[in-house]
Amino acid sequence: MSDCLFCSIAKGDIPADIVMETPDAVAFRDIAPEAPTHILVIPREHVESVARAGADRNDAMLGSLMRAATDLAVQEGIESYRIVTNVGEDAGQSVFHLHLHLLGGRAMSWPPG
Ligand code: 5GP
Ligand code: ZN
Repeated sequence: MSDCLFCSIAKGDIPADIVMETPDAVAFRDIAPEAPTHILVIPREHVESVARAGADRNDAMLGSLMRAATDLAVQEGIESYRIVTNVGEDAGQSVFHLHLHLLGGRAMSWPPG
């Protein structure tokens, strides 16, 4: 998608602090971190949300993103962390290209707001 921010980051057209690249996924630090570790894991392929990937039965994509996030937690040295993906504006989704938030490095409360 030509006007998608995260497609542009995946292509290298917009700079980001990239921490992992695989043939299918890219991970980079969030520009406005909410925790000492705040990394976004995205598929290279443009998909609007995890709901779309689920509806498409794209188990390989969903699995590879979750695996990348857990590998990144090891890489970051965080043993306690949260993996979040927002679906839709009411849930807080602001960029409509599927991304997992990997958050860690501080204590967190539950439930989220
Ligand atoms: P959402 O609100 O869609 O769940 O998450 C989008 C995330 O993308 C936010 O945490 C926001 O800080 C991050 N973000 C927005 N624009 C940029 C950008 O240009 N670069 C990076 N690295 N992160 C961004
Ligand atoms: Zn995109």
